[in-house]
Amino acid sequence: MYLADYHTHTRCSFDSQAALLDEAAQALSLGLKELCTTDHCDLLDEHGGRVAGLDWAPILEQYAQAAAAFEGRLKLRLGLELGEAPVDPELARGILAGAPLDFVIGSIHNMSPRAGGEDFYYLPLTDAAACYAVLDDYFASLLELVKLTDTYDVLGHVIYPLRYMSGASNGPVTLDRYQDQLRALFTAAAQAGRGIEVNTCRGQTLDEWLPVLELYRACGGEIVTVGTDAHTAQDIGKGIQEAQALLRQAGFRYQAVFCRRIPQFIRL
Ligand SMILES: [Zn+2]
Ligand SMILES: [Zn+2]
Repeated sequence: MYLADYHTHTRCSFDSQAALLDEAAQALSLGLKELCTTDHCDLLDEHGGRVAGLDWAPILEQYAQAAAAFEGRLKLRLGLELGEAPVDPELARGILAGAPLDFVIGSIHNMSPRAGGEDFYYLPLTDAAACYAVLDDYFASLLELVKLTDTYDVLGHVIYPLRYMSGASNGPVTLDRYQDQLRALFTAAAQAGRGIEVNTCRGQTLDEWLPVLELYRACGGEIVTVGTDAHTAQDIGKGIQEAQALLRQAGFRYQAVFCRRIPQFIRL
């Protein structure tokens, strides 16, 4: 089986201390064929402040060093996880033009500016009503993002807020009431030649993906990448094979990898 981890973070992300060299060594030891590094660039900070841009220099320097060290042994790809592109699409495009990127994940991590812009991580998601208010705003943002088709190749972790909602009282919180939004999102992405990812959340959220993948496929979706969202070397590769099994179960025959933002399809 062809193993590729297409969502990973290093110390060039605000929330990771990992070195790309260590992550690449771990990937190689696990038998991965490809590692795509996708550090964060969010257009809002954790508390909703605007971000002016991205300093590519440390990202490019680290990538060049690792690519040289692992040449011929592991295919390293240069990606970016771009958060909150709808906040400033022109800024997003300018940032993406600053590096020879292979792959871009488009994500929403924060409430929209009109709803305060706070990172979901910091919200008091203690009851179901609070969770559904967040999900309403989240899906509205995703439906804006999906139209900005030059700012992403795949939509990142579409079930992301659920990570923070497992402890809600009077739950459980599910995506049942968002099926129309998911259908609109997946149809728009598929028609634009864009995709989604299975984000294994370091191997933790796999079961939640099957209905999402089935719906995406029913909407004409074909492009799916697999990534762990690892922020440490130890989490590289976690849940990748299980995610591939889920993809097969949902009827997919290919996973996608990217080079210079062009998808390539690899048999599952
Ligand atoms: Zn993310
Ligand atoms: Zn991430």
